[in-house]
Amino acid sequence: MTFDYDLFVIGGGSGGVRAARVAAQGGAKVALAEEDRYGGTCVIRGCVPKKLMVFASEYSGMVEDAQAYGWDIQPSAFDWGAFRGKLDAELDRLENVYRGILKNNGVETFDQRAKLADAHTVELADGTRMTAKHILLAMGGRPVMPGIPGDEHGITSNDIFHLEKLPESILIVGGGYIASEFAGILNGLGVKVTQYYRGAQILRGFDDEARGLVSEEMCQRGIDLHLGTNVLEMRKEGDKIWVKATNGDERVFDHVMFATGRAPNTENMGLEEIGVEIGRKGEVIVDDYSQTAVPSVYAVGDVTDRVNLTPVAIREGMAFVETVFNGNPTKPDHELIPTAIFTQPEMGTVGLSEEDAREQEPIEIYATSFKPMQQSFAGRSERVLMKLVVSQKTRKVLGCHIVAPGAGEMIQLAGIAVKMGATKEDFDRTVAVHPTMSEEIVTMKTPTRTA
Ligand code: NDP
Repeated sequence: MTFDYDLFVIGGGSGGVRAARVAAQGGAKVALAEEDRYGGTCVIRGCVPKKLMVFASEYSGMVEDAQAYGWDIQPSAFDWGAFRGKLDAELDRLENVYRGILKNNGVETFDQRAKLADAHTVELADGTRMTAKHILLAMGGRPVMPGIPGDEHGITSNDIFHLEKLPESILIVGGGYIASEFAGILNGLGVKVTQYYRGAQILRGFDDEARGLVSEEMCQRGIDLHLGTNVLEMRKEGDKIWVKATNGDERVFDHVMFATGRAPNTENMGLEEIGVEIGRKGEVIVDDYSQTAVPSVYAVGDVTDRVNLTPVAIREGMAFVETVFNGNPTKPDHELIPTAIFTQPEMGTVGLSEEDAREQEPIEIYATSFKPMQQSFAGRSERVLMKLVVSQKTRKVLGCHIVAPGAGEMIQLAGIAVKMGATKEDFDRTVAVHPTMSEEIVTMKTPTRTA
C-alpha cells in the first residue's frame, strides 16, 4: 500500500516539530498540521514568554539592591505596553524560526486543524484527506477551569500575555508550577497578588523543606498566600470580580487567574473512534515506545500526560523517530529528570524528595539554609536552601533540591552528577568554587538528620 506521507504529525509544538524535523532529515516524507501558532505552548504561551516575564519582574528588586550597593538610581514605573510590544515581536520571531525549521527540512505544513479518519488517514478542517504510514499525535494540552460557579469570569495563563494593561490586583488560584510562578512574576511587576491554594502547602509533590522555603519567601516578598483556601463562588461587579472564598472572605479583584491544571487536547480528534485508548484525564495511552493501541499511531508530549515538560516531549519525539524510522527501538528515559520552577526564589530539583526517599530506604539528609552574600549585603533577609538526599546503603545521591537565585542553572549541572549515580563522597571530592552559593553542595560534612 502506498501512502501520501511516511509521517503525518498533528501539532506544531516542541515534540511534534522535533519529530517532524528529525524524521525528514532522515529522508522521510513528512507533513505537519497546526491549527494555532507554530512553537506550541512552550514557545507561544508558556516557558518562553513566562521566563521573559520573570526577567522583567526581577528588575524591580534589582534597583533596590543596586541602591544598597551604592548606585544612585531611582526606580521608575514599569511600562507593560512597551514590554508587551517587545514580547510579541520576539514570539513572532520565534514562531518564524519554527516555521523555518520545518520548511528548510522539507516538511509540508498545513495551517489548520487535523483529526484522524482511520488508522492511516488524517482529515483536515477543510475536508482534505491524506494518508500516512505513521501518524504522530502531538497536540499538547490546555488550561482547564475548575468548574466553580462564576469561573467563566476568570482568565488562565494563556490570557496573561495579552492583557491590555496590568491589573492593580489579581487573585491566582492553584498551587502548582503555573500559579506559583505567575504569583511571583505579577508581584514583581507591582500587581497586588493574592494566591489561594486548597492544600496545606504549594508545589505538592516536591521536597517539603524546599517548597516550605519557597512559600515563606513568596510571602516575605508580599504575596498574600492563603493555604487551605479555594474559591467558593465569584461574579462580575462592574469591571471587577467579586470572590467568596471557602474561608469566608469576600473580596474584589481586577482579575482572577485559574492555574488549576491542564488537560490533554484529545477531544473531537476521532481517536477513540479508530481504537486509540484514552485515559481518565483525556490523555492518549501509550506504551514505553510512545505507541498507542493503534499500531500506526504514536503520541508524544503533554497529550500523553507523562511528564509535561518541553525537554521531555522533545526526547519522546526523538525516541519515536529512532524507533520507527531508524529501526532502533528506543524508550524515552523518564528517570531523574532535573527541573526548575521559576518561582521567586527559584527552585531546582532532581531525583527523590526526602519524603519519597525515606519511604524507599534508610537515608541521610544534608541540608543547609543561609543568607547568600549578594542579597545579604543589600540588606535582604532572604535565605537559600541546598539539600542532598543520600542513600545510607549505596551512598548515592538520590535527590538534590536547591532554592536560590539561579537554582535552575545550578540543577542542570547537579543533574548530570545525580544521573551518573554520583555518591555523596563524589560530591565531597569535588573542590568548592568559592565564593558561590552552590559550593555548599560539596561542603556539607555531617548529616543534618537520618531517616
Ligand atoms: P499543576 O497540576 O501542577 O497544578 C494544578 C494546581 O491546581 C494544583 O495546585 C491543584 O491542587 C490545583 N487545583 C486543581 N484542581 C483544582 C480545583 N478544582 N480547585 C482549586 N484548585 C485546583 O498544573 P499547572 O497548571 O500549574 O501546570 C501544568 C504542568 O505544566 C505542570 O505539571 C508542569 O509539568 C508544566 N509546567 C512546567 C513549568 C516548569 O517547568 N517551570 C512551568 C509551568 C508548567 P492540588 O495540588 O490539591 O491537586
